[in-house]
Amino acid sequence: MNVGIIGLGLIGGSLGLDLRQLGHRVLGVSRRPHICEAAIARKVVDEASLDLTLMATADVIFVCTPIAVIEATVEQLSPHLSEQTIVTDVGSVKETVVRAAARHWPNFVGGHPMAGKADAGLEAAEAGLFAQCAYVLTPLETTPPTSLATVAQIAQSLQAHVYQCSPKAHDRAVAWISHLPVMVSSSLIQACLSEPDATILELAKNLASSGFRDTSRVGGGNPELGIMMAQYNREAVLGALQRYRHILDQMIEQIDKQNWAQLSQWLQQTQRTRPEFMQSPPVPDKAEP
Ligand code: NAP
Repeated sequence: MNVGIIGLGLIGGSLGLDLRQLGHRVLGVSRRPHICEAAIARKVVDEASLDLTLMATADVIFVCTPIAVIEATVEQLSPHLSEQTIVTDVGSVKETVVRAAARHWPNFVGGHPMAGKADAGLEAAEAGLFAQCAYVLTPLETTPPTSLATVAQIAQSLQAHVYQCSPKAHDRAVAWISHLPVMVSSSLIQACLSEPDATILELAKNLASSGFRDTSRVGGGNPELGIMMAQYNREAVLGALQRYRHILDQMIEQIDKQNWAQLSQWLQQTQRTRPEFMQSPPVPDKAEP
């Protein structure tokens, strides 16, 4: 199969490495000549160009640009494609992106590989990034079933676990497990920084260990991704944050009133139920955004 990739960054580059290894012919489009050269040298793509016309011979095209430009990319791409060409994306937010993209290209399948890491760009791309991770497909009522099946097959060939849901359900679910954690983790770092005594703050920085490393990791990631989550998944992120604030208020009240029995019950429940959120096999050093 001829597979096109637009945006040769972390996700686009990692896809290219895997898809070439699987025997596909990979065509890449970048905005920068030196990225085209590097992508060919690193065997991420077979051919690369600055020009979207390279995509004309692709059977399936992965749009791997930042969320903000997925719609515009699909629009610019559409005049160069034949009707059968399947276009899919990898954006971390789906409702607005998928509906807008499908208006420009009806043969569009929304997708989100739940794999990534803190680093960005082609240098960060790695083979096997998607293995054992969830890959969510978010069809609309109008999405051609055969195109959905083709993208699902490709995702499965990357050793990913394929899930399917509506774009809205995706956005609400990822608000809980991906976008809320970024906001909470960032707020945690901000709260620590608000310590008024500089000596205490310095001591806290020196004493911070694995617990703080775990809980602050996603808050210390790429700011652009956090902005995209808040901007493009605003409704679901706000809803999750408001529920979280309510829970936090309840916790403050329990501690304030020294209601240890209730706090204990609460912590026992979270200890018991956390594994339910950890059903995918753990993948070291990989973080879903
Ligand atoms: P990235 O490493 O920064 O790569 C994005 C690439 O898009 C850039 O390398 C660039 O490629 C191209 N690009 C950047 N700005 C552009 C613009 N204004 N117009 C056209 N192309 C542009 O980011 P990424 O992490 O791969 O993220 C790409 C997509 O994957 C996003 O939609 C994100 O939501 C999604 N995603 C990210 C992760 C993650 O953990 N990072 C995980 C799952 C999904 P060229 O230099 O080749 O043009």
